[in-house]
Amino acid sequence: DLDNRMEGLIPIFDKIQDILERTRHSDKEPAEIQLPQIVVIGSQSIGKSSVLESLVGQSFLPRGQGLVTRTPIILRMIHTSGGKPWCEFHHIDEDKKFTDFKVVEQEIVSRTAELAGNNLGIVSDSIKITIYSPNVLNLTVVDLPGIVQVPSGDQPEDIAEKVKELILQYISSENAIILAVCPGNLDVVNNESIKIARLVDPFQERTIVVLTKVDKAEDFAIVADILNGNVIPMKLGIIGVVNRSQEDILSNKPISEVLRSEKEFLKEKLGTLADKHGITNLGKKLNRILLQRILANISGLSTRIRSLVTANEAELKTLGQDGEISKVEKKRILFSIIDKFSKQYKAQIDGMSRSEIK
Ligand code: GDP
Ligand code: MG
Repeated sequence: DLDNRMEGLIPIFDKIQDILERTRHSDKEPAEIQLPQIVVIGSQSIGKSSVLESLVGQSFLPRGQGLVTRTPIILRMIHTSGGKPWCEFHHIDEDKKFTDFKVVEQEIVSRTAELAGNNLGIVSDSIKITIYSPNVLNLTVVDLPGIVQVPSGDQPEDIAEKVKELILQYISSENAIILAVCPGNLDVVNNESIKIARLVDPFQERTIVVLTKVDKAEDFAIVADILNGNVIPMKLGIIGVVNRSQEDILSNKPISEVLRSEKEFLKEKLGTLADKHGITNLGKKLNRILLQRILANISGLSTRIRSLVTANEAELKTLGQDGEISKVEKKRILFSIIDKFSKQYKAQIDGMSRSEIK
């Protein structure tokens, strides 16, 4: 179905990128075609890390009260056909595969302390992790420290500005899809994450609002109003979710069960409106947006590939005269691969845009 095919697009992108990197022979050429990244923003303790965790289907991100996430955490998720989920850290030898996600969590905590110290400071140095799992979509997501209003404890005076700067650094790129998280039990109209998102995405082309803690809301008629876009209209919509509560975390409630009770809860409180909400729908929605962003870039991509082929055909001839046959052959093969990929890619995109893209 559509979602599976969208996942199929990303390895194609990866391969083209890989080939372009290997055939790059001057620093003037861009090293890679950038894939969109999903960046989570919002105030402290409103469920940013929890949303990511549910999307990943694994429990491993440090969550809790206060400023827990103190460095950007860049998670590259790779869908596998089966087997147990595992992951690698960028700062640790890639031969070391982590299969115990409790250990992964501990490693994130100790790496956070290493990079950002033991007080409540934040740093822009990131922690990079690749997760391989049959339960994930092929996405790269970025978890960020929460927006701070007033410094607390021994936090530096400029912490609020520092966090804002860091957030802007990740969401300013046209390539970022912004997950602006708002808690469903508080005022959404004056929400900080939507305000910051508006600074870089005034026309809401790449901002999606996630309403967390829907279970903590007092009035579900208001929640329904928000989710229907009557309170803050959002072009890409507002998705309501119920993450693991602190009690769920303490009792180690498995994510599958969290998803099940989320579904039941939303159904009970929101009726048929629930069909468009919940973590599973958020994942699907993200994938659709991702594809639309790729589609928006496709013309630039094929131009780039075509000009690369043309530019290198001339070079292939010169090289040929010098008698470097094997090198020439190698390049020829590489470019025919690029060409094949771009055609396959285009065909897939064309088919989709006609039939399924709304
Ligand atoms: P972050 O600081 O924004 O990354 O927030 P966390 O994901 O660390 O969550 C902060 C706290 O809120 C944790 O105790 C979570 O269990 C809790 N929490 C997050 N989302 C929800 C939710 O949808 N419902 C409930 N009841 N608790 C939540
Ligand atoms: Mg967090």
